[in-house]
Amino acid sequence: MSLAASSPPSALSGRPIVRLEHVSKTFSNGTIALKDMSLTIGAGEFISLLGPSGCGKSTALRMLAGLGEPSSGKIVWPDPAEKSASDKSEGEIGFVFQEPTLMPWATVFKNVWLPLRLKGISQAAARPRVMEALEMVGLDKFADSYPRELSGGMKMRVSIARALVTRPRILLMDEPFAALDEITRQKLNDDLLRLWEQFGWTIVFVTHSVFESVYLSSRIVVMAARPGRVIDEIDVDAPHPRGIGFRTSQAYGDYCRRASESLLSAIGAADHL
Ligand code: ADP
Repeated sequence: MSLAASSPPSALSGRPIVRLEHVSKTFSNGTIALKDMSLTIGAGEFISLLGPSGCGKSTALRMLAGLGEPSSGKIVWPDPAEKSASDKSEGEIGFVFQEPTLMPWATVFKNVWLPLRLKGISQAAARPRVMEALEMVGLDKFADSYPRELSGGMKMRVSIARALVTRPRILLMDEPFAALDEITRQKLNDDLLRLWEQFGWTIVFVTHSVFESVYLSSRIVVMAARPGRVIDEIDVDAPHPRGIGFRTSQAYGDYCRRASESLLSAIGAADHL
């Protein structure tokens, strides 16, 4: 992937794309998955939701995607064309799950074509966009391969290409690299960051890794469990492009320490409830 130098995230951040306003979610079994979560997501932000298991990260992400409604509070899409998540038309939201969830019987091309196919776009008409998405993730040479022929990291790249093919205005990623080995995970972090720096997407990224959240994010939202809630927000003002220089810097260490302390207090907070 060849990429241009980029602006720092503060220059990319723009008008609000979506706001969670005092959102709570209680499941029918009585579990309070989220309590009074408020968060404004600006255009061009890379936000990580960081917290221990069970603090409601996935629940928040799924509600942003329109997969489930808040029990109270609301999710507001200020642009009139985006008035509710469940009304999303093509291209509004891309979702990447922890597992690549590819169709094993279909080629890489057909897997990435799927969201456009569901919109009635023919294979021929979709080809330029599918190939563009595959090129972004460095897999254009593998369009005719089958998932079984790919490594775990490559499968995840296909999954990302499938989320990008509709050119979403917001990309929601639920621990996408958690199942990968450390080296592959690092490579995918770097590639995702390069793409974000180049295209200025808006990304909400769920993770429980302090290091990953500091490396990638412009803002870290720290959450605690029982009940799931936001306990801290950390702006990561380090410049872009980020790479090994940032990863080995004093600033990176300082941000990691700050986020770790916050996460520890999140775990401590849960233990005392
Ligand atoms: P995280 O992503 O931070 O690990 P989740 O959002 O998956 O947390 O879950 C938050 C809490 O809600 C957990 O206690 C989980 O067990 C519970 N939960 C999630 N989904 C459901 C569901 N469909 N029904 C009941 N409880 C759920």
